[in-house]
Amino acid sequence: MDQTLTVMPAQLRAVWKLMATISDPEIPVLTLTDLGMVRSVEHDDDGWHIGFTPTWSGCPATAFLQKAIHDTMTAHGYTPVRVSVQLHPAWTTAWMSDEAKVRLREYGISPPVGHSCSAELPEHVECPRCGSQRTTLISEFGSTACKALWRCESCREPFDYFKCI
Ligand SMILES: [Zn+2]
Repeated sequence: MDQTLTVMPAQLRAVWKLMATISDPEIPVLTLTDLGMVRSVEHDDDGWHIGFTPTWSGCPATAFLQKAIHDTMTAHGYTPVRVSVQLHPAWTTAWMSDEAKVRLREYGISPPVGHSCSAELPEHVECPRCGSQRTTLISEFGSTACKALWRCESCREPFDYFKCI
């Protein structure tokens, strides 16, 4: 008897859509797929395998998201499921979708500038509220290690900048 399970492409697409419903706990307007954190969706005799790369390996969100993926898959009948954390290659802001950057700005966080970046922060970060380029770095570490705190000299409001990595 052939034990190989055949999964329809529609099922794979359904799982990808499901992944797009899981929000990042730190930036609720962005989902796992917006951030490009879901690297692979596979199915074989052992069940479902989700390859997942956290935005920051040290982020406390990693364990939370692993559980969220597991629970969401299980709740929708995609069992058994295994979530493997893939740290190589490391996540980069280049994996973030353009749509995600727009939503990030609307949420009040200035999206990462450029693609492949050095550890240095950019000279000019655009204010997500008024679009002014007259902004000053206040602190390299904002509300989380992934963000830097800036202030706009035009509207005088502080804002987070999502650091490029
Ligand atoms: Zn401003």
